[in-house]
Amino acid sequence: MTPSPVLPGSTIGVLGGGQLGRMFAMAARRMGYRVHTLAPEYDSPTGQIADVEVQASYDDLDRVREFAQRVNVVTFEFENVSARAVATAEEHAIVRPSGRALAIAQHRLREKTFLHDHGFPVARFAAVSTEAHLADALKSVGRPAVMKTVTLGYDGKGQAPVGPETDPLEAWAALGRREVVFETFVELACEISVIGVRGIDGSLAHFGPIENAHTHHILDVSVAPAAVSHRIGQRAVEVTRAILEALEYVGVLCVEFFVTRGHEVLVNELAPRPHNSGHLTFDACRTSQFEQQLRAICGLPLGSFDLLQPAAMANLLGDLWSDGEPDWQAALKWPDVKLHLYGKAAPRSGRKMGHLTVLAATPHEARDRVIAARNQLRRRLARPPSSPSTGT
Ligand code: AMP
Repeated sequence: MTPSPVLPGSTIGVLGGGQLGRMFAMAARRMGYRVHTLAPEYDSPTGQIADVEVQASYDDLDRVREFAQRVNVVTFEFENVSARAVATAEEHAIVRPSGRALAIAQHRLREKTFLHDHGFPVARFAAVSTEAHLADALKSVGRPAVMKTVTLGYDGKGQAPVGPETDPLEAWAALGRREVVFETFVELACEISVIGVRGIDGSLAHFGPIENAHTHHILDVSVAPAAVSHRIGQRAVEVTRAILEALEYVGVLCVEFFVTRGHEVLVNELAPRPHNSGHLTFDACRTSQFEQQLRAICGLPLGSFDLLQPAAMANLLGDLWSDGEPDWQAALKWPDVKLHLYGKAAPRSGRKMGHLTVLAATPHEARDRVIAARNQLRRRLARPPSSPSTGT
């Protein structure tokens, strides 16, 4: 029997306080839900939108328990919540997606093993936690390769390349000799992601392949639809659907793929939540990834996945602020540019502060326009440091 839906007027608890929770909270509040958030920081991007903001460590199980008791369903926008915290929440509230999906996605080795054991395509890999394993991995996987710590790695953090000249022991030492996945370095044609959603009744849908360009391992620009062949797009969608089924997943799952120069599609990683590459769905789709997440975890019918027009999204990292406030007027004078800022006070280098979205007649045009708009923001950087400030 399908569980009863969690209807508007109910309260959703979000573990995590970042921009994903913020945009989720916007979608939830628009549909008449109340939102509580728990995160270690105060005045977080999610907290600024939520009805109730609880400042607590994810490991403070008493606070997590109290938090879960006050809401109808718990979700997370940050996947590195400890298994104990999720188990505590699960004792007192429905948690969607499930703790099982989270446990797989937050641990690279578990994730790769799950994918490999279910026959999903992944790059060749080996697990390394001793020098002997490292020697074996060098033989079985070969070089070039990349070592990735099994936990707390994202945006290229906790990674070390192993090229022909690299001393592998030194590279491993640089990662603190922690448990790592040793993985073939893939010759990439491009990277794509598929954001899939599964409802509590098993209904499945997706936003189609989105193309992602990274700079220094951080997502830079996403474009929809991706410029890949029909066969590659279909394959990525097929794999995403099968992963959603295998996990008996409820909610939004992003599957990130490598498309190799040999036209193979390999799963890079899973994000058990809305994803940065899906931010463009906010402006470009009839139903955003955040609203789909809300509908799925509340047991409501999913919304239309229609892409209204080709679209592109460019991330705004803290580096843009290195010479003062970006020139917002310059970018916004283009009426088709949509600005999203996450309410973060400290623009540190590499920190995701916001994004721009542009819809256009073709994906190519959308990409060009969003990059040009972002360049407008940088106009200040080009001014000589001694020029007088005209800022307001
Ligand atoms: P990850 O944190 O694993 O998603 O890695 C961040 C980015 O690093 C990816 O999106 C790729 O651009 C690049 N990368 C990671 N692993 C590999 C690999 N095995 N081969 C080639 N590029 C990789």
